[in-house]
Amino acid sequence: MGGSRPILSGGEVYVAVCLLSALAGGYIGMRKGSSLFVWFIISALVPLLGPLAAALYRRETEEALRICPGCRRAVRHYDAMCMHCGTDLSYPQDSELIEPDPSIRVRARL
Ligand SMILES: [Zn+2]
Repeated sequence: MGGSRPILSGGEVYVAVCLLSALAGGYIGMRKGSSLFVWFIISALVPLLGPLAAALYRRETEEALRICPGCRRAVRHYDAMCMHCGTDLSYPQDSELIEPDPSIRVRARL
């Protein structure tokens, strides 16, 4: 090989962009309460658009919550079983659904 070589080749720049994108996407996904790993992979495969999708993800998938009858904690309305106490959950009545709320959402993740 030899000869003058740029400090960063195009390939290395691309890898660096992918990596930064993956880190950003994973971080955003995690902060949104989604999967760090999933968004890390998506953002690595689709640089720049991945983190953007992660940033937009939550609003598009804002899900109604319900209160678990077993432990009174907020769970996602489509969950078949409470992940806190293991209570089986039938499909909720509309009256059981509650609007997503940041404070409830945080508790639901704990
Ligand atoms: Zn429960």
